[in-house]
Amino acid sequence: MPPAGLYLHIPFCAARCAYCDFYSLPVGPSSASGAGIGSGADWRIRYPELLKSHMRQFAGADAIRLPGLPRSLSAAAFSRFDTLYLGGGTPTVLPPETLADLISTALDLFPFVPGSDGIEITMEANPGTLSGADLTLLKSAGVTRLNFGVQSFSDAALALLGRIHTACEAVDIIRAARDAGFDNLGLDLIYGLPGQTEEEWDADLNAALARAPEHLSCYLLTYEPGTPLSRKAAAGALTPLSDDGCGDLLRHTRRRLHSSGYAGYEVSSFALRAGRKDFRSRHNRKYWTGAPYLGLGPAAHSFLPPDTRFHQAPDLAEYAKRIQAGDSPVTEVEALTAEQRFIEGVCLGLRRAEGIAPEELPGLSGEKARAVFKNRLRNLEIQGFLERTEGRWHLTESGWPVMDGVIRRLI
Ligand code: SF4
Repeated sequence: MPPAGLYLHIPFCAARCAYCDFYSLPVGPSSASGAGIGSGADWRIRYPELLKSHMRQFAGADAIRLPGLPRSLSAAAFSRFDTLYLGGGTPTVLPPETLADLISTALDLFPFVPGSDGIEITMEANPGTLSGADLTLLKSAGVTRLNFGVQSFSDAALALLGRIHTACEAVDIIRAARDAGFDNLGLDLIYGLPGQTEEEWDADLNAALARAPEHLSCYLLTYEPGTPLSRKAAAGALTPLSDDGCGDLLRHTRRRLHSSGYAGYEVSSFALRAGRKDFRSRHNRKYWTGAPYLGLGPAAHSFLPPDTRFHQAPDLAEYAKRIQAGDSPVTEVEALTAEQRFIEGVCLGLRRAEGIAPEELPGLSGEKARAVFKNRLRNLEIQGFLERTEGRWHLTESGWPVMDGVIRRLI
């Protein structure tokens, strides 16, 4: 069993972005009071205490209380961790001292075993929510990777997306992170904005590349139901970019980043190739490769190989109530069927550059099923969307922009 990853969810943001449907609460003066964890700014103290209680509850010798799971099973999967990820929401709306305390609590309570590159500790951070001094503190707290939600270097695009920061603030905080000694920086960007041209997207890529980040995540803008952006689209106030337009931008992204020394190892993820150092996200790869991971906090998900998922409901008040009563905050445990495991194996495998090996896919049993599946793979190969390298099937440059369609034809 590979080592597990630990994820701590911080469900607060300075404000809600126009496209986001993640579980997070805006932290205005009274925002957390309705969620049942205190009034005013109390959430800054109350929530970290809840999360630490959750950590203690899970890590406690007799306290792995997942309904329907033998304790020995979960204890074995979570006997070794090598990555810690603080995400959200926006972790950096919490004071850096509090984040440092959460990190040291996690490292004390869980069996972290450094890999050859040590323990990877990633912090998501948003420009506009932290200072250079905060970054110095986070560095000394042990954060090894900083991932900035930059999204764009255009103020007009940032305004459309409802981000709280400006391009200038993003540039300044990236510089401050370098000054604080961070040598593994990730930048998140969003492409496929309404009317976005290749030149506009290229300007964003250029601005990002000028900062020489070790990692870049380029996400296609999606219109999630219920978000302000999707309401605008439904009302005709904006026109989403066409599928062809989005495909062209992805093709351009791959060309541009590959020629600049980055390897695309997942549909949205690109890591700098620099000698022997591997800048791919070790933690995120656990999500795509069937490794165990434990997510703590409301709305966080966990996976216990080979087939068990569990999560806490996206409900801070319910989470607080259960933790304070000493009950498990896990609200759902799900055992995946063989078919679900197969579908997930294809979906997660094909989004990675490594692709899939049919004999490794879970749930693909029987001669006939294997033959049918291989036939589908060969057809997609003939059409130029897939190719084979050392027995693994992966997307071609023509295949990446139509990944979802390729997957649909395989499952
Ligand atoms: S900062 Fe991130 S998590 Fe928070 S609202 Fe914006 S996109 Fe969502």
